[in-house]
Amino acid sequence: MEKILFLAYTQEDGLLPSAALEALSAALSLKSVLGSAELVVGLVGGAVQSAADQIAGCGASRVLGVTGPEFAVSRYSTDAVAAAAICKVAGATLVIAPGTSRWQRVLPGVAQRLGGVADTHLTQVEGADGSLKVTRWYYRQRMEGVIQRQQRPWFLLVDPGSQPAYAKPGATAVVEPVAVELSPAQMRTDFKGCRGAGQDVQTIRPEAKLLFVAGAGWTKKQADGQPHVKDAEGLILNFLKASRASLGSSKSLVDLGGEGEAVLSFLTHLNQIGQTGSTPRHAKGLSTCCHGEEPHAVGWRFINERRAINLDANCGWARGKADVLYVADAFAVVSKLNALLTAG
Ligand SMILES: Cc1cc2nc3c(=O)[nH]c(=O)nc-3n(C[C@H](O)[C@H](O)[C@H](O)COP(=O)(O)OP(=O)(O)OC[C@H]3O[C@@H](n4cnc5c(N)ncnc54)[C@H](O)[C@@H]3O)c2cc1C
Repeated sequence: MEKILFLAYTQEDGLLPSAALEALSAALSLKSVLGSAELVVGLVGGAVQSAADQIAGCGASRVLGVTGPEFAVSRYSTDAVAAAAICKVAGATLVIAPGTSRWQRVLPGVAQRLGGVADTHLTQVEGADGSLKVTRWYYRQRMEGVIQRQQRPWFLLVDPGSQPAYAKPGATAVVEPVAVELSPAQMRTDFKGCRGAGQDVQTIRPEAKLLFVAGAGWTKKQADGQPHVKDAEGLILNFLKASRASLGSSKSLVDLGGEGEAVLSFLTHLNQIGQTGSTPRHAKGLSTCCHGEEPHAVGWRFINERRAINLDANCGWARGKADVLYVADAFAVVSKLNALLTAG
């Protein structure tokens, strides 16, 4: 019989990040298809009671916790001992965890310590006929692989954005503390703090409902024969501020900066969507001034509803890549959108 451990860490407010709630959904659906499997929850953090209460309705047989100020921060050595201790106490054969940067760094090492195996970037975890299969994409989301393994414990790191988040009402949970001894060497790395970009500079927002993509057209000469890069910056930033959308870019636009041309100052290669960029998972996408060529559009694979604004009725989006193409001037459309968004 499989023993499923849902393993997560708490965020600063003591609750679970949405990536963890998604991994919990995957664990619950796996439990339901595997029939006789038991579900145990394992939590790591400064304090874990609020997180345990948050998911108290999930039907776990036990909630195990490693707590203390040493475990409030992301540090390989302390996270690894905490995770390994919980896995041992739970007797886990399957460990389902969110595929966040913190866990992706640590859990493959924990699998090694426990003689197990880890798979990352999973988009589907399913049990058919009582056997478990997991799915991930390879080669920039062009090939889908289905994996089965006999080796246990098997660590399954679920890609954020690929599952519905667990959302049942909370209750009061009983947390069983798991004791962990730390050696001075394991505390050698000192966590100084987190420094992030300010709200309006941070343009990549994985949890946003909308992906707004800017293409190179924003920097091109417009109908009056002149480029209007400053206007473009203002329009895009105001749109992001009002809509809280995440900002993506075409490769051409981010490359322009490296070539010394005038570009949107807040864009970096991290914003790039596509074959050599990222493949985000927002529910909706709006492309502006971007041609929609295949190497770009391949990064939209997981965007469910796609719309584009382009002056060219024959652009790539018109060829089956967008649900709706507005043949229009993006400067005019986004300016009108901003007026509507700020009016209400
Ligand atoms: C191996 C390889 C890998 C690649 N990987 C990627 C990748 O990961 N991501 C990626 O994006 N690209 C990638 N590319 C490049 C890709 O093929 C395109 O060159 C790139 O996406 C084009 O960017 P763009 O559409 O912004 O620019 P352009 O092709 O210059 O298109 C600009 C568009 O803006 C429109 N426009 C101009 N003004 C307005 C206006 N006022 N209103 C509305 N529309 C307007 C124009 O009609 C035009 O369609 C790759 C290419 C190769 C060969």
